[in-house]
Amino acid sequence: MEHELQAELTLSGPLAAEKLGPVLESAAAEALKRTMGNRGEGRLGAWSVDGAQVTLTLESSGARPHQTLLALARRLSEELGRRERVGVRSFRARRYRVRFPIEHAPPKPVTLPLAHTLSFEGGAGTLELTDLPEEALRDNWMDRAVALVLEKARRQTYEGKEQYWDLLAQSPPRDHPFQGDPTEEMLRRDWVRSGPTKGKWFLGPTAAHLLRTMDRIAREEVLAPLGFTEVVQPHHDSFDILLKTGHMAGLPGEFYYVAEPKTRDPAAWEEFTDLVKITKKVPEAKLAALVTGPTAVSCYAQCPTIYWWLSGRTLAQESLPVRVYDRTAVSNRYESGGRHGLERVDEFHRIEPVYVGTPDQLLELREGLMGRYKHVFDNVLELEWRTAWVTPFYLQQSGGVGVEDADQRIKGTIDFEAYLPYRGTRETSEWLEFQNLSIVGEKYTEAFTIRSQKGELWSGCSGIGLERWLTAFLAQHGLEPANWPTRFREIAGELPREVRFL
Ligand code: ATP
Ligand code: ZN
Ligand code: MG
Repeated sequence: MEHELQAELTLSGPLAAEKLGPVLESAAAEALKRTMGNRGEGRLGAWSVDGAQVTLTLESSGARPHQTLLALARRLSEELGRRERVGVRSFRARRYRVRFPIEHAPPKPVTLPLAHTLSFEGGAGTLELTDLPEEALRDNWMDRAVALVLEKARRQTYEGKEQYWDLLAQSPPRDHPFQGDPTEEMLRRDWVRSGPTKGKWFLGPTAAHLLRTMDRIAREEVLAPLGFTEVVQPHHDSFDILLKTGHMAGLPGEFYYVAEPKTRDPAAWEEFTDLVKITKKVPEAKLAALVTGPTAVSCYAQCPTIYWWLSGRTLAQESLPVRVYDRTAVSNRYESGGRHGLERVDEFHRIEPVYVGTPDQLLELREGLMGRYKHVFDNVLELEWRTAWVTPFYLQQSGGVGVEDADQRIKGTIDFEAYLPYRGTRETSEWLEFQNLSIVGEKYTEAFTIRSQKGELWSGCSGIGLERWLTAFLAQHGLEPANWPTRFREIAGELPREVRFL
């Protein structure tokens, strides 16, 4: 048989083998029948009892046997309780070995943070975990460990390959007399100043006015006509929310974490404040002792907390499709080496519309959004831009959405990219992703238990990066208002008076 689970059960009192045998065998037969069903077959292998310590082996093909062990322990406890006044106090696995099919053995070793051995042979992997506590058996660690091995193996095959990218549509080329880097140009004019902490920028009056103009255009020309309304969400994301969306498992190295003071009692902080006063420095070791470890994450994306708002609720038919957006939470990301100018920053401002509805409603809404976006980029911002069907890696690896839908192009992500003349020719240079639009199917409505009165409920979101809109616009049109498109100039109105520095 493919799978073998060697378990140890601790009884509440000693029992002779003759007393245990018949009960164990019938409880095992019943547990096997209940848990294997038609998904596999299994049997109770060798067993022994020494005082209150029972050792047994469960073997199976198809379905994995840890569910059987849970059912067996429960049944055994009931029967032994009735007959012998003895219960099952706890159980654990000494060794748990499973075989699973895998198309290609990973070329490099796969690591796991659990005591284990792992091997591959002839289209199958064999994973053996040792010394698993009861919690691990109850919580399906084995199934998750196998899924993780498969994911890591798949990731090895993707490594070095580019993200899936397929051109959807492209605007006509435009002339670009301006060839500068907009950030450099803004710095020269003192419109912006590189911020006091990593990857952040201070926008002076003109740059702020332009960023807010982008915000207004997105709301008035795209979101309001499609029936979107604003919500205001908290700026900190709980670990729980990010566990549900998968961000915690996927991107923990890109978050800014939030810590709290352990106390606000001034007495506890006195030594710290005294040191600040005398040294005029922050005593970092002292500070570290006075604050907690990370307790939350500074907003990475806005949709997770919007899903939390809807979680555990049933949406009325008349509210579908739900169309809301947040523009309050500011996004923070640890971009590290990738930072460049205003287009890749550690803190950016984004409007994130989120939509929840039936599959038909969402497909219709996507058409609506695509139409309004096209109107803005063609007629208001007059950009040279294109769209591409992309499949983010996290969707590929979570299996549910992506590659297999690539032909139908229903679930997945569309990237919007702008040509940045300062980076080189339009054919060879890297364009800037300035926003995207996704339909993710039931991934998040399921994760957050969001229901409708009847039928399937899907969701999706679109990330409107305002710094990206601004840099794309300025990179193509330059910083001279006289050269800006008429419609944009009308909406922007008069520019504020800049502060002059001598
Ligand atoms: P990229 O591939 O450029 O890192 P992403 O795939 O991480 O982008 P998403 O998580 O899909 O981006 O976020 C949606 C939008 O948020 C992007 O289209 C972009 O407009 C904006 N955005 C993301 N990261 C940044 C950043 N570091 N600086 C400015 N804007 C950003
Ligand atoms: Zn989102
Ligand atoms: Mg990114």
